[in-house]
Amino acid sequence: MSQPRPRVVVIGGGYAGTAAASRVSRKTAVTVINPRPHFVERTRLHQFAAGNHHASGDYRKLLGKGTELLVDTVAHIEPRTRTVHLATGGSVGYDYLIYAVGSEATRPATVPGVEEFAFPVAEYEHAERLRHALSTLDPDSVVTVVGAGLTGLETSGELAEQGRRVRLVCSGVIGPVLTEKARRATYERLSNLRVEVLENSRVVRVGPDGPALDDGTVLPSAVTVWTAGFGVPELARASGFSTDTVGRMLTDETLTSIDDDRVIAAGDCAAPSGDPLRMACQSALPMGLTAAGTVLSRIAGEEPASLDFGFNGIGISLGRRSGVVQFHERDDTPEDRVFAGRIALSLKALGLKAAMAGLRVEALCPSTVGFPRGGRHPSGTATRTGSPDRAATSRNAR
Ligand SMILES: Cc1cc2nc3c(=O)[nH]c(=O)nc-3n(C[C@H](O)[C@H](O)[C@H](O)COP(=O)(O)OP(=O)(O)OC[C@H]3O[C@@H](n4cnc5c(N)ncnc54)[C@H](O)[C@@H]3O)c2cc1C
Repeated sequence: MSQPRPRVVVIGGGYAGTAAASRVSRKTAVTVINPRPHFVERTRLHQFAAGNHHASGDYRKLLGKGTELLVDTVAHIEPRTRTVHLATGGSVGYDYLIYAVGSEATRPATVPGVEEFAFPVAEYEHAERLRHALSTLDPDSVVTVVGAGLTGLETSGELAEQGRRVRLVCSGVIGPVLTEKARRATYERLSNLRVEVLENSRVVRVGPDGPALDDGTVLPSAVTVWTAGFGVPELARASGFSTDTVGRMLTDETLTSIDDDRVIAAGDCAAPSGDPLRMACQSALPMGLTAAGTVLSRIAGEEPASLDFGFNGIGISLGRRSGVVQFHERDDTPEDRVFAGRIALSLKALGLKAAMAGLRVEALCPSTVGFPRGGRHPSGTATRTGSPDRAATSRNAR
């Protein structure tokens, strides 16, 4: 008599979870639990908000054959009984769990009014709400984008190119993860788009009329977009798993939870060796494939391989006609090489298309998609018998 296939539950159908589910789908019974019936191409949410991309994918083409999609949210993980409890009531048991809940916008409690009066863009429903607010806005009205990380820059570029009056405010310099050269190219493009850039300006409050700075200046705005800060869901911490200070699940280099070898984490919500990779779709997809490899190795009774992934750079779109690409060493150290303009935009677009193509290919033909290797030199020492010896920082390029 044949053995029943091991049951794998994947929490979160983003880049990491979708890739992981497809890779394990040939050898296991796999269920993906995700709050929406469609895939969200988060890397396009600024475009979705601006009304020039749907930012959605069809799971029927993105998940391996036989994968079950359960549209729900996991409210709690109970490792003792290997069960996840759903927000709508029921529960699902697993032999192996892949934790891939991604990241989310944070709205700091220390800045009153953000929750009521500002529009985040980092999640599908937020971007949808912003899209609606923008669609009813007089084109001459000022839109203030707070936060000039990559998401803030991309959102500003997208809206300004549509002829909107955009103001970009940040507490330091724009694009803190950019080199001087890439930052100069970004300034130039924003200046051509007539974006008003206010650096070293700390927003301390948001009201219906716009954000206010620490010197009391109110920046009159019809819409305030909030892009300052990414966090991760509380689920791992709330379920009793060891996490870093941000809430990412602590794993070893095979992406296995340091608390439980039946639980494997991937993507923005994972902190391998307490030394997390930059939050990016670029790293989430390879981590998903690695997490799947770990599960398959355990099932086969083999030693799982360590994460072996290398970055290639950072791409920013600044509207639909121009962008900036900063090349990186595999270990994510910026190089001096920067491309700007249309060629940079094309490179960035190619990267996003390649990610979606990778998911489609993996769904059709599991275990065929590869990724760049060679950049992983973790400095933390989280192991399954101990905690990391170095406080995790919120490494966050978005
Ligand atoms: C506007 C924008 C532009 C970006 N551009 C780029 C880019 O150009 N290049 C790049 O590399 N990265 C980019 N990023 C970052 C990139 O999108 C993320 O790093 C990537 O999506 C992380 O993938 P993930 O699979 O870890 O998580 P996600 O893609 O966030 O997927 C996680 C999924 O889990 C679901 N989930 C969460 N909690 C639960 C729960 N309790 N139960 C069930 N499901 C749950 C979520 O709803 C989501 O569907 C961008 C991000 C934004 C917001």
